[in-house]
Amino acid sequence: MTSREERIARNEALHREVNERMRQIEEGLTAKGIVERRELDEYLCECGVDGCMETILMSAAEYEAVRSSPIRFAVRPEHVIPDVERVVEKHDRFVSVEKLVGEQAIARQTDPRS
Ligand SMILES: [Zn+2]
Repeated sequence: MTSREERIARNEALHREVNERMRQIEEGLTAKGIVERRELDEYLCECGVDGCMETILMSAAEYEAVRSSPIRFAVRPEHVIPDVERVVEKHDRFVSVEKLVGEQAIARQTDPRS
């Protein structure tokens, strides 16, 4: 893994961590009735592009589907980095990418659900 690839993987892991925390806070607030459950919530794009602060809209089910795999991330379609990841699902608002073999170590080590 080159330093560029590692930087990409760390960016993705960081954005995933932020999304996971936001998801937990959101769940807590809706459970207490403080905020109403929405059909779509805003998440950070989980791409590896330096400084990307763009957001994507996903339903809770869509988010959970991405999170069910330690090597899967949700990104804006134009933010896919084809030499380190491949598109596994296309949606209107985002795509799911999976890290290529050889690029998966950091994604697995930093999986917040592992
Ligand atoms: Zn992005």
